[in-house]
Amino acid sequence: MIVMTPHATEGEVAAVRARLETTGVHVVVMPGELTTAIGAIGDPEGVAELGLEGMSGVDRVVPISRPYKLASSELYHEGPTVLDIAGRKVGGGDTFCLVAGPCTVESREQTLEVARAVKAAGASMLRGGAFKPRTSPFAFKGLGGEALEILAEAREETGLPVVTELLDTQHAQAIGEHADVVQIGARNMQNYALLEVAGKMGKPVLLKRGLSSSLDELLQAADYILKEGNEAVVLCERGIRTFETATRFTLPVIVDPSHAAGDRRLVEPLSRAAAAVGADGIIVEVHQDPDAALCDGPQALSTSHFPDYARDVAAHAALLGKRLA
Ligand code: PEP
Ligand code: MN
Repeated sequence: MIVMTPHATEGEVAAVRARLETTGVHVVVMPGELTTAIGAIGDPEGVAELGLEGMSGVDRVVPISRPYKLASSELYHEGPTVLDIAGRKVGGGDTFCLVAGPCTVESREQTLEVARAVKAAGASMLRGGAFKPRTSPFAFKGLGGEALEILAEAREETGLPVVTELLDTQHAQAIGEHADVVQIGARNMQNYALLEVAGKMGKPVLLKRGLSSSLDELLQAADYILKEGNEAVVLCERGIRTFETATRFTLPVIVDPSHAAGDRRLVEPLSRAAAAVGADGIIVEVHQDPDAALCDGPQALSTSHFPDYARDVAAHAALLGKRLA
């Protein structure tokens, strides 16, 4: 819908109409008392590429159809997307997926200890960073390939599927060999080349919302992955720095209370809220000695507290008829 300025001339309206018609859309001019609106019915892509906002007499262009296509419930999905990740159901409304583990794989002992603890408390999957995006280039960036081997050992022992971040296209092969779920970090949500590589890996992708990304942008990022023929995408809300007005999703949505809060005292109430509001799961950071953690210690739950935490989250998920996956 193209909304003209109040005093747009007939010539300006005609020029917009002519421009729209070059794309083959059906054009309907709707003169109002003050302003004229022009409806363009057809391919929204072609219209967006015209750059009509710059034409004389045009006030604004208001998209009616949603910009994301494959992630949209309007076009391709009848019901919610339900994934099966190594036997864990994600989405669908009757299960809750609790992904827990350290921010970063620091050592074999640390990772195995946390993996055993979260497994014993009923977690669905193990998280742990091998390649870490750090704000400072001088901070610990993870153990890389060695961490992937450690995660593989933790999976072997506990049976928990492993979630780990793909930071760079160069690591795709190594991550592909070890991860059960490929995490795309908040900072890389709009790294489109990386999204395409992730989409081609043949593994479920956990896509985190960018630090100041709108839901439209998140869902268009999901489209990049879906477009590669990968249907297994989980959206992750990890806290943002902007305002947002939209509320529609079809893909499973899990919440990251650790990075959203950055403070373990808030992780528990946020987790209860996430479970009670109907999220499909949580991805939460757990450490055997949070004060000594090499990354994100202040937000990590301790393994000794994790059983109580897991029980509490499960009780809130149960309010909505969900049990741990
Ligand atoms: C993480 O999961 O450890 C992480 C770095 O998350 P985010 O990309 O959401 O900041
Ligand atoms: Mn972290």
